[in-house]
Amino acid sequence: MRAAVLREYNADLSLEEVTDPTCPEDGVVLEVMACGVCRSDWHGWVGEHPRVKPGQIPGHEYCGTVVEAGARAKFAIGDRLVAPFILACGACPSCQSGHQNTCPNQRLPGFIEPGAFAQYIAVPFDHNLAILPDTLSPTVAAGLGCRVTTAWHALTGRAAVQAGEWVAVHGTGGVGLSAFLLAKALGARVVVVDIVEEKLTHALSLGADAAVNALAGDTALAIREITGGGAHVSIEALGIEATTNASIECLRPLGRHVQVGMPVGHTAKMQINMNAVYMGNLALFGTRGMPSWRYPSLLSLIESGAVDMTPLVAREIPLSSASDELRAFNGPTAPGVAVITDFTA
Ligand SMILES: [Zn+2]
Ligand SMILES: [Zn+2]
Repeated sequence: MRAAVLREYNADLSLEEVTDPTCPEDGVVLEVMACGVCRSDWHGWVGEHPRVKPGQIPGHEYCGTVVEAGARAKFAIGDRLVAPFILACGACPSCQSGHQNTCPNQRLPGFIEPGAFAQYIAVPFDHNLAILPDTLSPTVAAGLGCRVTTAWHALTGRAAVQAGEWVAVHGTGGVGLSAFLLAKALGARVVVVDIVEEKLTHALSLGADAAVNALAGDTALAIREITGGGAHVSIEALGIEATTNASIECLRPLGRHVQVGMPVGHTAKMQINMNAVYMGNLALFGTRGMPSWRYPSLLSLIESGAVDMTPLVAREIPLSSASDELRAFNGPTAPGVAVITDFTA
C-alpha cells in the first residue's frame, strides 16, 4: 500500500510502498477514507513527541471502511467506522470504570504503531470504534477521531459546561474551533482568543460572542471585562505557557480550567500562576481524548443538526501534501484544518 513515512524529523514525509497491514485478531483493517493532519502529528514530526520515532507512519484521526475483520472483531467487512485515537483494552480497571481514555494498555496508531497517513490501517481493540452516521461526510468525520472528541469530553466530561455559562477558548486551531462550536451548541456564551485576526473573524462569523487578539494586550483582563468578572470555564487549546496562564487568569472565582493543548517540548513544564488558582479557588482539569462510550452523545448531537462541524475543515488534500501541512504548524495557521482524502496522489 501507499503510505507517508516519517524518516527524518522536520523533513518531508517519505511517500513509499509499504507492506499492507496484518489484521489483528481483536480488530479490523480499515481502508482509510479520510485522515486529518493534527498538531499532535506536528509534535511527532519535529521530534518533540516522546513516543514518535523515525519509521513512523503518522495519522491518528481517521475514519474508514472495514476490509478485513479478525476472528474476535466486533465489526464486519463493509462497516464504515470512526476510531478514537486512544484504543483502550476494555478489560482493565480504568476501562471498566468508564475512563477508557486513561487505559494503561492503550494502543496508539499514528504514534507508536502505523497510522492512517496510508491507504490501509490495522486497528486493534475495535470495540472502541463507532459506526459513522450516513449523514456525516468522511472528511468531517475524520475529526471525530481526535479534535472533536477531545473538545467534547473537555467541555462535557471534564468541565461540565452549563447553558448560559461563559466559556473562553484559547487558541482556535482544530481542537479550539471544535470546542467553540460545541460550546455554542451546549448553550454557552463563548469568547475566542487567537493571535491570527483571520481566525477571530472566522469564529465571529460562526457565532462566537466575543473575540480577543492575544497580541493586543492583557488577554485575561480583556476576558474578565467581556464576561463581567471572568469566564466560568476556560479551554487551553495550544499547549504553551502564555495561553495556559491566560486561561487560568481569565476565570472567575471557582472557575474551571481545562488543559486540552498538549504541552510543548520534551519536559513540557510550565510556570503556572498558582496564586490565581489558590485565590480563585479554581479547578484545573487535564484531559486527553474521550472514552469511546461517549460517541453516541456526540454523534446524536451532530446528527440532530444542533451543531455543524463542517467549518472545521478548510481543505481536502492528497497524501503528498501532508508534509506541507505539517510544516505550516511551525507558525500561526489560517482557520480550519486539512484532511487527507486522496491516498493515491
Ligand atoms: Zn490529533
Ligand atoms: Zn484498559
